[in-house]
Amino acid sequence: MKKLAAGNWKMNGTRASLAEVAALLAAHPAPACEMLLCPPATLIAQMADAARGSALLVGAQDCHAKPQGAHTGDISVAMLKDAGATHVILGHSERRTDRGETDELVRAKAEAAVDAGLVAIVCIGETEAEHDAGKTLAVIGSQIDGSIPGGATAANLVVAYEPVWAIGTGRTPTLAEIAEVHSFLRGRLRGLIGDEAEGVRILYGGSVKPSNAGDIFAVPHVDGALVGGASLKAADFGAIVDALSAA
Ligand code: PEP
Repeated sequence: MKKLAAGNWKMNGTRASLAEVAALLAAHPAPACEMLLCPPATLIAQMADAARGSALLVGAQDCHAKPQGAHTGDISVAMLKDAGATHVILGHSERRTDRGETDELVRAKAEAAVDAGLVAIVCIGETEAEHDAGKTLAVIGSQIDGSIPGGATAANLVVAYEPVWAIGTGRTPTLAEIAEVHSFLRGRLRGLIGDEAEGVRILYGGSVKPSNAGDIFAVPHVDGALVGGASLKAADFGAIVDALSAA
């Protein structure tokens, strides 16, 4: 299985930010892991042009579940593909919280994505209150059951475990907690999709940075990272790519 370093730029970046992509590619022309950036929709086409023929993959941060129609402001999977995206992040906790996205909606979007040939990166994670109440496995078990698309395979599904309380906070679970969750998720995926589960990349996300990446990537069943803040700077994201390539 090839590991995956994925960056989520969220609502950050303008055309000037594409200089970071040039710097990243100059320093990391052929990493041993997959390298993916998901910029805001306004930059997908230009980033995909800049990445053409390189080791960098380009993805989106959301899509609509329907193929087209009267959905002002939304973007279909066909539009993402046309712009050059190969992956789409779905069910990020910021969308679950800010936009009220449910497991059912995330699954519908993921099915649209995989039907169109995109890789769906389905995000799950518990809140701080759920974590403190010892409900982590129950919460993420139910999220994964409800969110992953029918027909999921190792090739079209990536799962990102992102504890909500670790996103953008500088806090992370202990390595033992990450190990417990990732092993649990592998088992849950086996129950859902059988042998395909062995090849599904399970990413950890939440305050991954160059200083903690090596320790996190040494945890069993951590097959890469979904990186927010540290993906905005080529030097930081490149250091995380290096740590994953060495893991
Ligand atoms: C994220 O939003 O997916 C994320 C993990 O953010 P950060 O790395 O900034 O915590």
